[in-house]
Amino acid sequence: MPQTVYIIGSGQDGGLPQVGSRMKPDMAARVDPLAVRLGPSICVLDDEGRCFLVDVSPDIKEQENRLLSLPGYAKRAMRNPFDGVLLTHAHMGHYAGLVHFGREAASCERLAVWCTEKMAGFLSANAPWDQLVSLGNIELKVCDGRTGITAPLEPWPGLSVRPIAVPHRGEYTDTIGISINEKLLYVPDIDNWDAWPAARDEVAKHEVSLLDATFYSAAELPGRNLKEISHPFITDTVKKFADLTDGSRIILTHFNHSNPVCDPASKEARSVTAAGFELAQEMMAIEL
Ligand SMILES: [Zn+2]
Ligand SMILES: [Zn+2]
Repeated sequence: MPQTVYIIGSGQDGGLPQVGSRMKPDMAARVDPLAVRLGPSICVLDDEGRCFLVDVSPDIKEQENRLLSLPGYAKRAMRNPFDGVLLTHAHMGHYAGLVHFGREAASCERLAVWCTEKMAGFLSANAPWDQLVSLGNIELKVCDGRTGITAPLEPWPGLSVRPIAVPHRGEYTDTIGISINEKLLYVPDIDNWDAWPAARDEVAKHEVSLLDATFYSAAELPGRNLKEISHPFITDTVKKFADLTDGSRIILTHFNHSNPVCDPASKEARSVTAAGFELAQEMMAIEL
C-alpha cells in the first residue's frame, strides 16, 4: 500500500508570518501566500485516504484546507478528520490546534491521540484539554520513547511509528521524535545534537530525516544567551551530518520566522543545499 508523508507545516511554532513581528520576511509573507510557513506538522496519507497526523499546530484549519486538495484525503468519508494523531510535546506549535477537535468545533469521536505518559498526564489534568478527554473527543494512548526500545505503535497495518526520546526544553512534558516505518525520521525540536547520543546512528539508518532547523546561526539572536537556545543552529547541523547526505536525504524544517533559509534564494539557503541538504517546503511530499 503506497503511503506518502506530507510536510504540512515547515515553520517553527509561531509560523511565518509570526504574530507581532514587523520583520521583512513576515511583512512579505503577509502579502505573498507562497512565502507563508505554517506551524510544524507532518502527516502520513495512504491510497485509501487514511491519514495519520503528527502534531496539531494552531494552523490545523489551513492545513486541513490544503490536504483537501489531495484526492487521497478528499475522498475520506470518516467521521474524524484524521485516523490517529501523535503529539511530540507540549510547546504550543505542536498541540494547541487540539482545540479544534473539541465540542465547539469538530467534536471528534474517540480520535486516537498517542503521546508520552507525561504528555497524557498534562492533557488530562489541565483545561481546556481535559475536556477533550472527559467528553471522549480524543482517546489518549500512551507511547513512551524514554527507553528508546519501546515497541512502535501501529495506527494501521503497514504503518509503524517508533517514538524516540530526545532532549528538549521540557517545561510541561518530555519530547519525542519519531521513526516512521524505520524509513523516515522526524525530529522537529531538540536542544542540540550532542545531547542525543543516538543522533548520528538514527540519521544514518533512515532514508530520509526531517530535522530541527529553527535557527540558521547566532546572528538571528543578538543579545541572547546562547545557552538558553534550545535548538541546534543549521551551521552546526551541516557540519555534524554533511557526510551522511551521500547515503540519505536530510531535509531541514521547523524554521523560525527570522531564519534566512526561509527565502530559498538567500545565500544561506544556497549554501545549505550546496552542502547536500534539502530545505522543507510547504506540502512537500515524500514517498515511503
Ligand atoms: Zn517546535
Ligand atoms: Zn519545542
